[in-house]
Amino acid sequence: MQLRRYARFRWSRHYGGNVAGDVIGCNLRCAFCWAWRFAYKAGGGVLLGPGEAAKRLALEARGRRVYVARLTGGEPTIGWWHLVELARGVLARLPRAVFVVETNGILVGAGRVEPRDLLRAAGRGRVFFRVSLKAASPETFERVTGAASWAFELQLRALERLAGEGLVPGRDYRPALVLGFDDEKAVAGLLERLYSIDPRLPGELEPEVVTLYPHVRAMLRRRGVWPGLYREPG
Ligand code: SF4
Repeated sequence: MQLRRYARFRWSRHYGGNVAGDVIGCNLRCAFCWAWRFAYKAGGGVLLGPGEAAKRLALEARGRRVYVARLTGGEPTIGWWHLVELARGVLARLPRAVFVVETNGILVGAGRVEPRDLLRAAGRGRVFFRVSLKAASPETFERVTGAASWAFELQLRALERLAGEGLVPGRDYRPALVLGFDDEKAVAGLLERLYSIDPRLPGELEPEVVTLYPHVRAMLRRRGVWPGLYREPG
């Protein structure tokens, strides 16, 4: 059984009502990470097995309308079998919910984890992948994530693998793009690439705008990057 560290469990209004577990541990170090205070804090939070984590998520749903269960905060695909077991457990407890995997796509694109495992365990139609692209070009990807530029490609390969599973953009998966760090040419190039994976993908691209929470602002300053587009908190 794989254990995973959690910072907290919570209910929120997003997706019309969802329960979320904020996991600790990530393989990127994004300059705009809203969760950086805990997302990769070694030894923080509470260490749980998938059954206990599923129970805690379901507890957050008590007496509330819940359409989505998800892991967020850090990168949920780290500890893959934990995620698979957790999704199975939480969906059994919340029969009307869909499990949303909010991922940076790196491990999926690298072939280190197999989306089919999750689809089998949770059931097709009950899992939705949201792949958050941190940049539109390899150069910007390296600048904002601290990872090598070649790893940019892994995010796109993640989308290719999901398409290869016969998943439908908008229904089963969707890319998102953090805006404000790339120029128009890079974004146009990304849209072309998305089109080549599935012509429906560009239309499903969800914009992500950085919210300048004080701790995010501080991190951006420290890293020497600043988005051309952002929103103020509140
Ligand atoms: S991938 Fe997500 S959790 Fe990880 S550093 Fe980037 S924004 Fe934070």
